[in-house]
Amino acid sequence: MKISLIAERASHRAAPRSPRRTAGAAPRRGRGATLQTQGRTGGAAPQAGPHHGRRATLRTARAARCGRFSYAGRVTRGRGRIAGLLVACLVATGCGDDAPTPAPSPTGSPPTAAPASPSPSPTAPAEITLAFGGDVHFTGRTARLLREPAKAFGGAIPLLSNADLAIVNLETAVTTRGKPEPKQYLFRAPTSTYAALRGAGIDAVSLANNHALDYGQIALLDTLDSARREAFPVFGAGRNATEAHRPWITEVRGVRVAVLGFSQIRMLASTWAARDDRPGIAMAWDVERATAAVSAARRDADLVIVFNHWGQEGNECPTADQKRFAGRLAAAGADIIVGTHAHTLQGDGWLGKTYVAYGLGNFLWYGNSASTQTGVLRLTVRGRQVVRNEFVPAVVSGTGQPQPLTGAAAKRQRDRFAALRECTGLSGR
Ligand SMILES: [Zn+2]
Repeated sequence: MKISLIAERASHRAAPRSPRRTAGAAPRRGRGATLQTQGRTGGAAPQAGPHHGRRATLRTARAARCGRFSYAGRVTRGRGRIAGLLVACLVATGCGDDAPTPAPSPTGSPPTAAPASPSPSPTAPAEITLAFGGDVHFTGRTARLLREPAKAFGGAIPLLSNADLAIVNLETAVTTRGKPEPKQYLFRAPTSTYAALRGAGIDAVSLANNHALDYGQIALLDTLDSARREAFPVFGAGRNATEAHRPWITEVRGVRVAVLGFSQIRMLASTWAARDDRPGIAMAWDVERATAAVSAARRDADLVIVFNHWGQEGNECPTADQKRFAGRLAAAGADIIVGTHAHTLQGDGWLGKTYVAYGLGNFLWYGNSASTQTGVLRLTVRGRQVVRNEFVPAVVSGTGQPQPLTGAAAKRQRDRFAALRECTGLSGR
């Protein structure tokens, strides 16, 4: 991210860490200031506590290095105000080389923050935009994309980087080490993976999937270590069960967002599940622990997102297991549930007040599989409500990249995606 801010809350952080600049991060035009906590990599376990109307202390990464405290005051919901203050502070501290570099205004007027949506009242929650993509890894033809990591996601980059928050499933270990597990498809990728994710404006990835441990626990530990080194947020896996079930917490325009990941894949589930004394992934099969983690996130965050790895490969309809788990997550307080793994799109809709998108398919993918249909799911959220859902259709191209569709092909795939709702049991708005 161009602006990386640390929210310091004595009750939430063990100790402030010097934030790393996100080298190679694409400028995010249209994004508001994003407050990023380090719930997974740097802080203590999230604690329940009041957060509406709280006071938070902000400082920019650069200002922190300059030893100057830029701004301490009330976090005002609404990106215009936050961004405006930040720009002012950055100028004031003379540390502007790390400041956001908005595009020059065509009118020649001074650069300003992106236009805000209709001015929120002081108490109204900000409207934020989220983007989700499906399964991503770098092997075979997609490994070649890492020669130019910043361009790896091709035509999908603007779709992801224009959202306030973009999340995908990272379907691989990031390591050169490890021993193959007894399974057919084995994926591992180099650390330039993070540069590719950042280059696409992706903010965090789920590791709760059926490939994070393809090369064993050592490979998962390497992945967690490299993610920490690169300050790239991951969730859904950990050095133990507590860590695997801990949400990634971030704050966007005053909205505190918790993101958790679970895998519902049966293969090797018993040996891949994180335990108190064993690294691994968070499993959907331990429903009690999964729902307890979601309930805890509910108490701590304004918005709770769950990213699952589930479904039957090639099946455009969610299984009974998927539906049952979605119901439990919704009851535990999940506001948004998205998923991947089936190598094909599955439908979306509402389960009560919870928005569910069962399957986003492959996204950046090494070979042929059930379907080349993919896309970016863009959600606009106000408070806990998804107020707008848009599926931007794309196809996994010959290079393995998500290539947005246009014209009649786009319309056909959008219609197809809408029709997939029929077998989900989900409702329209
Ligand atoms: Zn999978």
